[in-house]
Amino acid sequence: MDYLRVTSEVELAAALREDGAVFLAGGTDLLVKMRAGALRPRLLVDAARVDSLRQLSDRPDGLWIGSGARLEDVLASDAVRRDYPLLAAVLHSLGSVQIRNRATLGGNLANASPAADGVLALIAYDGKVALATQTGERTLDVSEFVRGPRRTALAAGEYIRSIWLPAPRSDWVPFFHKVGRRQALTIAIASVGGLLAERDGVIVDVRVVAGSVAPAPLRLHPVEDLVVGRPVDRTLLATASEAARKAVAPIDDVRASAPYRRDVIGDLVARFLRQASGHTAGGASP
Ligand SMILES: Cc1cc2nc3c(=O)[nH]c(=O)nc-3n(C[C@H](O)[C@H](O)[C@H](O)COP(=O)(O)OP(=O)(O)OC[C@H]3O[C@@H](n4cnc5c(N)ncnc54)[C@H](O)[C@@H]3O)c2cc1C
Repeated sequence: MDYLRVTSEVELAAALREDGAVFLAGGTDLLVKMRAGALRPRLLVDAARVDSLRQLSDRPDGLWIGSGARLEDVLASDAVRRDYPLLAAVLHSLGSVQIRNRATLGGNLANASPAADGVLALIAYDGKVALATQTGERTLDVSEFVRGPRRTALAAGEYIRSIWLPAPRSDWVPFFHKVGRRQALTIAIASVGGLLAERDGVIVDVRVVAGSVAPAPLRLHPVEDLVVGRPVDRTLLATASEAARKAVAPIDDVRASAPYRRDVIGDLVARFLRQASGHTAGGASP
């Protein structure tokens, strides 16, 4: 295997045209796979020193995050703390400080795990991803980019340049909860992230995304359609929870069974609606 450290996108794009070239960002997914013998790149292209990929830019129409920005740098950004609290909550739960000091958002996206926590937040914010080659750039919705376990829309020689999150509503209340086998450093068995805005006791806008219960993090449109325009009460919690259970397509694996995952998602969706709406009547989860 050859190793090449590049310092500009011009060098990066040229190197990625080589047969068998693989993009190396933080290496927290890639090096694990290589060590396990699951992947043997012919050329490892280390892009960690490409400064243009590490920038964050807070503009009136939203936030640009370079694909190579370290997760700890994303978390430290004022714009993320102030305007994108769901992304902050999700990244705070991702790995450990050591992992987040190496790992990047581009890597979380390109690795395309159904449990990718960062991807869940990007989908909730309706994020878009800019993909580049030597000859140009194209833009896709994050939800179109991630196609299934380890499958993305990346073409040969293409790399993720940046991620764009549109300016959010100021009245969105965030929610994120990940259920794993332990409290810290855990990969999700099932997770729910969401954003909810209410006016006069009625839900006016909502985004709900579930992780680890479908080939990729899944926006729960049936739940969103059901709850908008309605007040949060016991009936709504029960019907939304049931709609969530039906909307997901989990699998059995070493970490949990499909029926368990389905139940967790139903409960988390009810918890999200109850907490984010400030609703306290009605007691425990349905
Ligand atoms: C101990 C541990 C705990 C973890 N905990 C979590 C967790 O809680 N939640 C979670 O979601 N993940 C977790 N992860 C997985 C991992 O840390 C994240 O997915 C991370 O964001 C990957 O980023 P990276 O920069 O390290 O990617 P890398 O490992 O460098 O790359 C991953 C893949 O993406 C490709 N790639 C990277 N950047 C680009 C780009 N810009 N353009 C095109 N392709 C690119 C690489 O070629 C490779 O295929 C954990 C990993 C470890 C080791």
